[in-house]
Amino acid sequence: MNRRQFVQLGTLAVGTTVLSGPARAAAVSSATLPALPYAFNALEPHIDAKTMEIHHDKHHAAYIAGLNAALAKAPDLAGQELAKVLEGLPDIADESLRTPLRNHGGGHWNHAFFWQSLAPATKSAEPSEELAVAIQSAFGSMKAFKKSFEEAATKRFGSGWAWLIVSGGKLRITSTPNQDNPLMKGLVPATDLGIPILGLDVWEHAYYLNYQNRRADYIAAWWNVINWPEASKRFGSAFPDR
Ligand code: MN
Repeated sequence: MNRRQFVQLGTLAVGTTVLSGPARAAAVSSATLPALPYAFNALEPHIDAKTMEIHHDKHHAAYIAGLNAALAKAPDLAGQELAKVLEGLPDIADESLRTPLRNHGGGHWNHAFFWQSLAPATKSAEPSEELAVAIQSAFGSMKAFKKSFEEAATKRFGSGWAWLIVSGGKLRITSTPNQDNPLMKGLVPATDLGIPILGLDVWEHAYYLNYQNRRADYIAAWWNVINWPEASKRFGSAFPDR
């Protein structure tokens, strides 16, 4: 097994635009927990510091541990981007390898994506003009987009995620169970596949300390701490030919 290639899997796990600086440099072998790009309390009062600390330091760390345990049994995956591993999951015949890669690899990808999707309210900003126009075109208005997204996030039964994706050149809202995501071809319905622009974690661990059973209140608060510049950058990257 090549340790340097393992680094690649870790550092490229969520795409080169997501991990940078200390998070990249810190990766020494296999997947490593990326540092939060802000303090635990930076998203208060919308998302509290204790929730962020446990969510990042315990939950995300557990997905990293689970992913590395699976990777240790799959040296042939060394050097691949995690996104590619997730896209190739149906080709992995061994269920005892495929399932932990799906759950923990998905968990790592989703959380690294999620942290970068958030920003302190003072830096949340607004969608780029290009993204704002696309939201208007796809949903009618920003208000209608938020309503549809909130509905998808609220209705996701049990644990999972709500997503804003680009699919077929258009913005769409989807949701996935557990740690599945829109990259998982062959595992999630084709209609839920696409390029993620935003993702919202609606597992109870993401909000229960502060919001208890009030998932809708957590979702409503989330609009205040979206990293719109990052989402806009992702949207622009989804159309490289423009
Ligand atoms: Mn989570």
